[in-house]
Amino acid sequence: MSEFMPGKLVNLSRLVHRVVANNAGMMTGTGTNSYLIGNQQIAIIDPGPANPKHIDAIIEAAESLQGKIQWILCTHTHLDHSPGAALLKEKTGAVICGQPAPPGNSQDANFQPDQHWQDSSELACEEFSISAIHTPGHASNHLCFLLHDENLLFTGDHIMSGSTVVISPPDGNMVQYLASLEKLKSYPIDNLAPAHGGILAKPLEIIEGTIAHRLKREKKVLERIPTLTTCDIESLTTSVYDDVPVFLHPIAKMSLMAHLAKLEEENRISRKESLWSLENT
Ligand SMILES: [Zn+2]
Repeated sequence: MSEFMPGKLVNLSRLVHRVVANNAGMMTGTGTNSYLIGNQQIAIIDPGPANPKHIDAIIEAAESLQGKIQWILCTHTHLDHSPGAALLKEKTGAVICGQPAPPGNSQDANFQPDQHWQDSSELACEEFSISAIHTPGHASNHLCFLLHDENLLFTGDHIMSGSTVVISPPDGNMVQYLASLEKLKSYPIDNLAPAHGGILAKPLEIIEGTIAHRLKREKKVLERIPTLTTCDIESLTTSVYDDVPVFLHPIAKMSLMAHLAKLEEENRISRKESLWSLENT
């Protein structure tokens, strides 16, 4: 796993380089990937947590490329992605691009983008061009970034390598998540660069596999609801995630809540106080 050693500069292609933050864990996998795009005028995607050592490692990586950090792009404002932006800006004068944080405990409320990026916002310089694709679902302000020169999509937490993305309501939304995955199918994408884990090839297979995985879980929710005498969130989590280790159930419960919210919105299930049932029973 030395490829993911914190602080180490890894060159992934002519234009793309990576430095991993020292925050590996259950939710972050091998740690947050901070990507450097370009060799002269450099854009950073996801500066990661506000860890001075990590920010210095990003700056040193840019110096070793003999480039200057000019832009900081944030996929979203979860705490392992954007809090380093302010410190990196302070040290480099780079322009911060992204969307402000929605309300919520897991959000970087201090995030202040200089440029409020939307769907299709673009950055073009001599070496490369990159544009934003708004992909709500994991987070309402989530942006993926498409590097046109390499048809490489930086997926943030929309698609991860080696672990399932958590959709945690109310900011996380399963309807939007699936729609955002569908939306990506229309773009020219050769590879995926997630914020956690390595580069993924065969993007279409991965996108379709992710959608299928979610719909399979949704089907299981619908199958299990009528089998439970007390169908509350706890017993439903145990039943629907019987293939997932118990220590992961608190996290699985969040995604289950997102599935339930979707099914309720579609009038396929209903809730009476804390108990769920199929709409027609
Ligand atoms: Zn996230």
